[in-house]
Amino acid sequence: MEKPRHQMEVRTPRRRRYRFNPKKLGITLFSLGCLAVLIALVVQLARSEQTSAHANFSPESSKIADLGVLSDKCIVIDAGHGGFDPGAIGPSGVQEDDLNLKVSQYLKDALEDKGAKVIMTRSDDDAIGETKDEDMAERRRIIEDSGSDIVISIHMNSHTEPSVCGPLVLFMPGSEQGKALAESVICCLNEFINADGGARSESLYILKSGNQPCVLVECGYLSNATEEASLARQDYQKKIADAICEGTAAFFGG
Ligand SMILES: [Zn+2]
Repeated sequence: MEKPRHQMEVRTPRRRRYRFNPKKLGITLFSLGCLAVLIALVVQLARSEQTSAHANFSPESSKIADLGVLSDKCIVIDAGHGGFDPGAIGPSGVQEDDLNLKVSQYLKDALEDKGAKVIMTRSDDDAIGETKDEDMAERRRIIEDSGSDIVISIHMNSHTEPSVCGPLVLFMPGSEQGKALAESVICCLNEFINADGGARSESLYILKSGNQPCVLVECGYLSNATEEASLARQDYQKKIADAICEGTAAFFGG
């Protein structure tokens, strides 16, 4: 006879105990493996997109990639001449001191984009002394006091023979680091403006102004009418500045 419902034995549900189940463990491990493969694929895809964006080279992507290459470096930029001392003057009247300042300002921007701290010996059209001697002594003082890693002096060249053209980078005789910096800079200049310039040592006041490697970049000859016209162009000035910046970054291993 069946017991009445209320008398039926009420079973308390047994607590579920964890039991090792090799099948479940296998499925879990397989799922985790799939997830890891998926994450690896996504990371790989993101990396390849980054690489192709770099290959397509845009100034913005290059800026992002280059940011910080010179972050621990301090660089003095010396824009040659100024004020009462215009430097070389081209056949159509282009003045060296104006171009030196323009290239120097573009170079400052380019180096700062790579994280460098930049000190300018002059930032406007004026000389930094009443006389040439005072002006040069003040430049030397700035270089000595800066504690900078390197010095880059910007000039335009001139020659009695109007056909002479091309960039030239000078360094202090006996300075191995100066030579290495000069060679790195001229290499990039030749590449960027399709030139065939060289680097050599010369005993100049500005090159001997500090213990740090110092180069004097003669960007081109104002005495050459074709080069004078190129040097007066903003895009050409910027290209020269970018080349000097690249050469500097390469010198520091960037
Ligand atoms: Zn000069």
